[in-house]
Amino acid sequence: MKEIDIIPSTLKEAVERISELPGYGEKSARRLAVNLLDMPRGEAIQLIKTLLDMLERIHPCSECGLYTEEEICSICSSEERDRSVICVVEETFDAFAIEKTGKFNGLYHVIGGRLSPLEGITAEDLNIDKLVKRVETNNIKEVILATNPTVEGEATASYIYNLLKDKNILVSRIAYGLPFGAVLENADDFTLSKALEHKTII
Ligand code: ZN
Repeated sequence: MKEIDIIPSTLKEAVERISELPGYGEKSARRLAVNLLDMPRGEAIQLIKTLLDMLERIHPCSECGLYTEEEICSICSSEERDRSVICVVEETFDAFAIEKTGKFNGLYHVIGGRLSPLEGITAEDLNIDKLVKRVETNNIKEVILATNPTVEGEATASYIYNLLKDKNILVSRIAYGLPFGAVLENADDFTLSKALEHKTII
């Protein structure tokens, strides 16, 4: 018996396209497509319009790479920031998270990911050359490497460290530790040994 394909072709194409997004498998792509179809049509269209609006207006800041609606983001154009310190992050939302703490008053640099041989992401795919140029031309005194404490984030931090170590600036790495509320017994070896290594005097 001939198998009949009952999935409408536009739904199939939508699922295919959504599943090309990082982090979306076919199952989650299907769920998203069906959620949109199940929503009141007006709401779904409004959601898509918001996404279109975002795509039209947002682009990376030409200085630091943070997503912004301006040519230069509000941090790069602020007079109140310490322009001698750059905090390097993987993604815009990492910078937003640091910004929320209110503990950092320098500038950011978004590299747009992390080195990952498995995913075929090399230094050329990341916004690293621009960082080196900023350090060389903008009288930078300190670079804080705030890539994620993961294997890839570590590799990325040490790659950048090697590029900057002879530039006569201070290069630091964010401290590792246990999340607040953690139980030592449940911490992995890496986290626990890094927490001991970077202990502070109280
Ligand atoms: Zn900027």
